[in-house]
Amino acid sequence: MGLEKGGMWRNWVGNQYCVSQFRATPETEAEVAELVHEANRRDLAVRVAGSGHSFTPVVGTNGLLLSLERLRGVQSVDKARRQITVAGGTRINEIGRTLKEHGLSLTNQGDIDSQAVAGAFTTGTHGTGITLGNLASSIAGMRLVTASGDVLDIDGTDLDLLHAAQVSVGSLGIISSLTLNVMDAYNLHERLWRDDFETCMERHDELAANHRHFGFFWCPVPESRHLYCLPDTSAVSSTSKTADVCEMKVMDITTAAPMESEFEKIAYSSEVYPIEYVPNFVELEYAVPLEHGKASIRAVRELMLTKHTNCIYPIEYRFTAGDPAWMSPFHKQDSITLSVSGGPGIDYWAFLKDVDTILRGYNSRPHWGKMHFLDTQDVTDLYPRADDFRQLRRSLDPKGRFLNDHLRMLLG
Ligand SMILES: Cc1cc2nc3c(=O)[nH]c(=O)nc-3n(C[C@H](O)[C@H](O)[C@H](O)COP(=O)(O)OP(=O)(O)OC[C@H]3O[C@@H](n4cnc5c(N)ncnc54)[C@H](O)[C@@H]3O)c2cc1C
Repeated sequence: MGLEKGGMWRNWVGNQYCVSQFRATPETEAEVAELVHEANRRDLAVRVAGSGHSFTPVVGTNGLLLSLERLRGVQSVDKARRQITVAGGTRINEIGRTLKEHGLSLTNQGDIDSQAVAGAFTTGTHGTGITLGNLASSIAGMRLVTASGDVLDIDGTDLDLLHAAQVSVGSLGIISSLTLNVMDAYNLHERLWRDDFETCMERHDELAANHRHFGFFWCPVPESRHLYCLPDTSAVSSTSKTADVCEMKVMDITTAAPMESEFEKIAYSSEVYPIEYVPNFVELEYAVPLEHGKASIRAVRELMLTKHTNCIYPIEYRFTAGDPAWMSPFHKQDSITLSVSGGPGIDYWAFLKDVDTILRGYNSRPHWGKMHFLDTQDVTDLYPRADDFRQLRRSLDPKGRFLNDHLRMLLG
């Protein structure tokens, strides 16, 4: 498997790009290992591009950029153990389709399903649900091609190693396959409606406790909804207001038959989770300790209503349970996630920085794939296992073969 001439790569929204010297699209784990040996011989940095849905510089390299689009597919399904093994480049939507055929489901999913599994799971991607961990918490094992070109089989017998690898942003090696814990197949019943902001705050605890999934978008102005392609829920609105309202969503497991109307849907799990987005925003998202959820959205809402009135993308607000992964934004911390977006045509940096200042005040931890302003010391302060992670990373990759400048600062 030879190296091809590289060239330009850009992410989904186009706020990150790189020009690499070489690229390659390996089809097997052995080819990945061979490429790492070649990179060692030529002293090239190596990164993998998943589907490019991260907003942060977590992919770029001027060395060798790999795509695992040919190393994909469900490799095995163990229905009795409720586990599947998938190749690293498999898209989440391909997993959903195969699981459905086998009477199984992923435990939770995020807002889109087009990401590559290794890219999405190992940046700490999450859905919503106060009792549900992020997607990485369902990783039972993985196979990593390390900097020496050897394969490290992480099978969960060494829990520290598993918890280090679950959220590792491609910095420990190239993930050729992942083994995931899954569930018996379930249908989800989704309901959408609109509420006043204050009503939403009053119902916050009750809705989070009584539904498997609860989340909402706060829309400062009526146009906000269009920017994220949200449906118009005015017909099922509990408020006459059109601005400063929350577009609400709950989802619960049901045995009822599939159905679909404008604001209600029952279908197989993976057919309910994803929603549509168009690449017109740059997003920042932090995991805020659960007890500060309501205070944090009040503070960011106030900022948007008073200081940054031209920032009209919705705030997305969701819930995620804590998990043991060392570098997970939810490490041992039940959290809400709060995201804001900058839109094209405005200079959004002052807004994102002000939101960062507010959320840092609550000891919040950013999503590795969404905009943030952390440096080396911040990571050390926010993640109790950060130095253990860095030590492990250095032992697996002493020359930093799998780092770029951004990751070297955070995890090097
Ligand atoms: C429209 C949109 C909706 C989103 N919705 C959500 C959401 O609901 N919840 C949420 O939490 N996040 C969400 N995200 C963020 C997104 O899930 C993450 O940024 C995710 O990492 C993107 O996956 P990807 O396949 O595009 O990975 P990339 O962005 O391509 O890569 C992410 C990282 O993984 C590494 N990587 C990829 N494959 C491998 C591999 N095989 N081995 C080693 N390293 C690898 C890359 O080098 C990089 O460091 C959303 C993003 C967008 C643009």
